[in-house]
Amino acid sequence: MKYIKLKIVSGIVFSMVSSVVCAETNYQEVLNHAYNQYKLENSGKNADYIPALAKINPNYFAIALVTVDGNIYTVGDSNIKFPLESLAKIFTLGLVIQNYGYEEVLNKIGASATGMQFNSVMAVENLPEHTGNGLVNAGAIATASLIKGNNYTEKWNQIINNLNSYAVTKLSVNNEVYVSEAANNFHNQAIAMLLYSYGRLYSNPAEAVDIYTKECSVDASTVELAKMGAVLANKGKSPFTKQQILDSKHVPKVLAEMATAGLYDSSGTWLYRVGIPAKSGVGGGILAVVPGKFAIAVYSPPLDDFGNSVRGQKSIELIANELDANIFK
Ligand code: GLU
Repeated sequence: MKYIKLKIVSGIVFSMVSSVVCAETNYQEVLNHAYNQYKLENSGKNADYIPALAKINPNYFAIALVTVDGNIYTVGDSNIKFPLESLAKIFTLGLVIQNYGYEEVLNKIGASATGMQFNSVMAVENLPEHTGNGLVNAGAIATASLIKGNNYTEKWNQIINNLNSYAVTKLSVNNEVYVSEAANNFHNQAIAMLLYSYGRLYSNPAEAVDIYTKECSVDASTVELAKMGAVLANKGKSPFTKQQILDSKHVPKVLAEMATAGLYDSSGTWLYRVGIPAKSGVGGGILAVVPGKFAIAVYSPPLDDFGNSVRGQKSIELIANELDANIFK
């Protein structure tokens, strides 16, 4: 089924009446279709290694699509806020690439798939660069350690202000999630210490882990997340404020990392099936970016075994098919 509205545009050319058929995509119908198709889907399970995530209502379901022209389409609980978790990594990676340049980030962090779990200590041990890439925990903690600033507050302000400019609003930290994760993030602390021992963490390890944990606890709605993604779809420029948040030359680097590692160990399968750079977070959010066109954000907490939102993946796959959005076609 294709969702194209046909518009008849008539014009008089040399006293002849000609009719031109223009195609206009009906994004809202496509979103509704995905929502209705998957609203009863109930497989998967909330992340539970962060206790505050385990008790979030698994029935929340929302989809938002924002185009590079700033048009917004939504269905479901689209204003419900949820913790960005790993989705925050995308934008902090962009900030660090902006500040250091992409060659230096390649040297200091790396950009290859690890072939191991997102929080693997074995990956830190075995990979020659130890850090992996900016979207797995090791690389993201190292990315956080590169944020410039004279103290914790200055560094944190860089991160939150950057997220705010993408989202065109003031986002805030979900304190319950932050406290819950900070009390249970021993694994991430171990990763940071290991990186430090290899000279691959560039600030105080405890500070880097804390900044990282805090950015993961920032709440956003699907509309806000889709607006953030629309900046990447629009070559780094906000469709709303017209601010060039990320240089256009840096955007493909961020999208390349999303394509490589955005959906954890199923990133290759995702790219094969759907063909769109995307990133998910264990909070149940997922963001897909179609360069030059739009971004889609979905929120649904239950995750598959890889850590990706089940309804999120299914919905985006359906939408991508309906809108013919595979970037490799
Ligand atoms: N803060 C989470 C962690 O470090 C993020 C994980 C994720 O969303 O991939 O475990």
